[in-house]
Order: sequence, then structure tokens, then C-alpha cells
Amino acid sequence: MPHRPITVSGVEVTPLCDAVGPMGPAIRRPPAELFPGSGLPDEPWILHFHCYLIRDAADRLTLVDTGIGGTDSPASSWAPVPGTLAGELAAAGADPAEIGTVVLTHLHSDHASGAVADGRPMFVNARYVVQRADLDAARGPVLDDVVTVIKAQLQVIEGDAEVAPGVHVHHTPGHTPGHQIARVGEVAMTGDLILHPAQLADPAVPYAYDDDVETATRTRTEVLAALRAERAILATAHFSEPFLRL
Ligand SMILES: [Zn+2]
Ligand SMILES: [Zn+2]
Repeated sequence: MPHRPITVSGVEVTPLCDAVGPMGPAIRRPPAELFPGSGLPDEPWILHFHCYLIRDAADRLTLVDTGIGGTDSPASSWAPVPGTLAGELAAAGADPAEIGTVVLTHLHSDHASGAVADGRPMFVNARYVVQRADLDAARGPVLDDVVTVIKAQLQVIEGDAEVAPGVHVHHTPGHTPGHQIARVGEVAMTGDLILHPAQLADPAVPYAYDDDVETATRTRTEVLAALRAERAILATAHFSEPFLRL
């Protein structure tokens, strides 16, 4: 079931829990190795995989991230497929065909795979918003099985933009070159800007699967400081609780 929505300035933000589970053996590592310097105990890291549905006052729908996809998705090598995004959307009263904008925070398989289903675009009437730098870096199954399928619907941007009324994206490179976060009022949907609560306590704690650890650390530190200064509400992809007031 979706988590409880919150409403900010007349816009409803509903967390959709696509999946919960540990990483598969293909990429699983002890938490202290995934997050060097964190001192995390050697207990399995159970990730949640959250997407966010935004419904504005005019009933326009925007989806931020699309989850891990089906049993045949590019994430199937390591994530607990199949994702339950379709059921979560239905429970939130949203038909995939009603979604006008899909923001892909980045083109990793656990965020982009649900953009397609059975080899076709899952959201037939949507623009899929992606940063140019991530598009240029895409390769392998995410390129072949996701990006290529949604090619005609891509809205490629560079930097910051308003992608739907009241929905802004900000380029936050490091985890991937074209990583972006999405903002609605005081809510910040942060994708993989921050993976684990240990990085809230210390933003300098890197993540082993950041593409560019140095850039990711600098971006995370700066963006978190700015969000903290405005006491924003974090809406994370992988924490257990979707919302967190800074
Ligand atoms: Zn990622
Ligand atoms: Zn992720």
C-alpha cells in the first residue's frame, strides 16, 4: 500500500513503495564497505524503493522515478523484482495513462526500469524528463531495454528546469553525471543524492556505487546544507520512511 500522502501548497505528494528488500548477491557488500567510514554494523541493508506521485490542484499527475520494473527488467540481476508500482498507482487512484510527466532522477535500473512494461512505454501519454548527461552516459540493458523504448517521449534537459507547473528539477551530479532531484514546494525528492541515513549524519560518507565519489560527496554536502537551512522535507528513494523533515 502507498504510504500516507502529504499536501504542500495544494499539491499532494504520495510515496509509492515499489519494493522492499536487500540487494542480491551480484552487488551485495557489507554496509561498512558500501558506505566507507560510516561504521555501520554488518547487518543486511534492507532497501525500500520509493517513487513519488504528485497530484496538483488541477489534477495534473507527475511521477518521480519508476522503480525496479518487472521480472525481466534490467534491475532483475540485483533488485527484488517484480516491482509493485502499477498496484501502488492504482491504490493511489492514478491510471498510468493519466500521468503527464515522469521525472527520472537518474538512469539506474532501480529508478528507470518501471518506465517500460512488456517492451513498451508504461506511461503512454507522459514526457519522460531526463538530464542530457545521464542520457549520454547510458549503456547496457538500461539503454537497450528502457531508454530506447521511451525515446520518442523523452524530454532531455540540461541543468535546472520547471518540468510541470510547480514541479522543478535541479541537476545534482555525482551519483551519476546527470542525477537530478525534484522539488514541489518544501518537499525534495532526492533520488540517490542520499542513499542511507548514515549520510544524513555525515554527508561526507561516500557510497561505493556513486559514479564519481568526489563530485557526489560535494553535491550531497552542499544540497543537504541548503535543504537543512530551509527545513525542507526530504522524500528519499531508499530510506524506510519516505518523508523526513530536516
Ligand atoms: Zn542509483
Ligand atoms: Zn537507487
